Amino acid sequence: PMTGTDDFLGHPKGVYVCFFTEMWERFSFYGMKALLLLYLTKYHLFGDKAGLDLLGAYGGLVYCIPVFGGLLADRWLGMRKAVVFGGILLVLGHAGMAFEGHQAHRVAGEVVRDEAALSITYLSLALIIMGVGFLKPNISTIVGKLYPENDPRRDSGFSLFYAGINLGALFASLVCGFLGEAYGWRYGFGAAGIGMLVGLGMFLWGQKYLQGHAEPAQPHTLRERVLGLPREWLIYGVAIVAVVPVAALMWAAANGAFALGGEISLALMLMIVVLGGVLLWFAWFTGTQCTPEQRQQMIALMVLIFMALVFFTLYEQTYGSWVTFTDRLLTKDLVPSLVVREGTPLPWSIVSLLLAPLGFVVAARLSDRNPTSKAPRTLFALIVIAMLVMLVRDCLVLPQTAGSLTYLGALFLVLLAPLFAALWAWLDKRRLDPSKPVKSSFGLVFAALSFVPLALAAQQVGLTGQMASVWWLVLAYLILEIGEMCLSPVGLSAVTQLAAPRVVSLMMGTWFLATAFSETLAALFGKLAAIDVPEGEVMDIAQAAARYEHLFWLLMWIGLGCAVVALLVSPLLK
Ligand code: GLN
Repeated sequence: PMTGTDDFLGHPKGVYVCFFTEMWERFSFYGMKALLLLYLTKYHLFGDKAGLDLLGAYGGLVYCIPVFGGLLADRWLGMRKAVVFGGILLVLGHAGMAFEGHQAHRVAGEVVRDEAALSITYLSLALIIMGVGFLKPNISTIVGKLYPENDPRRDSGFSLFYAGINLGALFASLVCGFLGEAYGWRYGFGAAGIGMLVGLGMFLWGQKYLQGHAEPAQPHTLRERVLGLPREWLIYGVAIVAVVPVAALMWAAANGAFALGGEISLALMLMIVVLGGVLLWFAWFTGTQCTPEQRQQMIALMVLIFMALVFFTLYEQTYGSWVTFTDRLLTKDLVPSLVVREGTPLPWSIVSLLLAPLGFVVAARLSDRNPTSKAPRTLFALIVIAMLVMLVRDCLVLPQTAGSLTYLGALFLVLLAPLFAALWAWLDKRRLDPSKPVKSSFGLVFAALSFVPLALAAQQVGLTGQMASVWWLVLAYLILEIGEMCLSPVGLSAVTQLAAPRVVSLMMGTWFLATAFSETLAALFGKLAAIDVPEGEVMDIAQAAARYEHLFWLLMWIGLGCAVVALLVSPLLK
């Protein structure tokens, strides 16, 4: 492997730039997501169904557009420009979410909503959808490009990157989830926007460390005129104009319009069309454009992507049914007696938001000037420690809400990441390292099992009529994250390794497309436990618990079934 002044702590500096950019992008993404369903149901008085419809359509589209973002970057834009453009859209979108307008209220049983404010929300969601589409697949591909082919550091680079993703998610739930519910929705959404601004700044400053790996393949094609405009501007222009129909889709989803009978929503139809397109392209590409070896690799990759689809269908319950279940039927306080709480504390993690990127900027500059000096490393280590202290303090001191408890997933992931890195290395030494398909199958097994504690909790609520302990949720997250560790970073790395070189970003987009389906399916399943309590009535706890219990067992069996099939086919994929 290359080492030189462009390395820092054993990895290219560019990887850290991607790490921090993606950390803040995910901070904004998950911060917003932790609040979205609760905001819609509590502030704008959406019913569960309408809320989940919107969440599903948003989640579906936000992971669908990366296919196009990846395609455009492969062909014309290059990854760096795509990330910057996506970042700008994201900042605008999150800023727009901070506008909340008037709270909905009921007049004679009818809900009166601030429709103008909601239009801004739909437009903001559309900007976020476009922004993620340009940013997310491409920042992930850059990480792969920063390592020479067959560089053994690639997998650990992706583990690092994945830890960055989850560090962002962890801060997001704690800071945005908490601010939104304790101080006011706009503070939570606003904090998400600030995080994204920091991320964009980080990337603009750090792009020099990408060493040209993320530039357009043929820059002259960007200046060619198409329809009277330079192609680059045309791409940006079309993306911006497309924000409007996407916003209209958000509106339609929230209003149940276009619901094509029963549960078949327009979002689902759209996605089936996109999937059909991708499969056709895939057949053509592997059939005519690949060497036999490439073809086999691409097919293996497609199977991994399918497993990810099932995994994330289960996983995405965390932002849907798990949140409402926690809100309604679980106690929230994880550490009630540890700290005496007075008033509403502020999250300290906000400080890390600014400290961490700044610290890295200083450390990187110091090491540019003097590559052998120890000072940058010490500085970096201090920053990491400070971040962790603030995180731990926030976990202990901030009152937990259903939204902020989504931090548990990211927390376990960050804690498990080093253990798993060690485990894979240990198994590898003994030549027992499971193949990628086997690892992914285990991911499915754990995802399925994570529903058992929740089903038991629901059962208990049904029997006692009392809220169950939040520790059931903790256990569920622990099991789920073992699964995520087995499947998700493995899959990302497999994409950059197995995809034919010309289509890496596109295949990365396809990897996220699987999640697009998952999001829509997850919302469909989630609706099985939708509970709309009519005005003036109280929720029947036993009835609610029974619905959740049914949903949780169902998903467990689906997950286990798919896991068994995956295990059976995995020997074929080796
Ligand atoms: N949690 C990961 C992320 O946000 C996985 C997303 C996915 O592939 N569905 O990047």
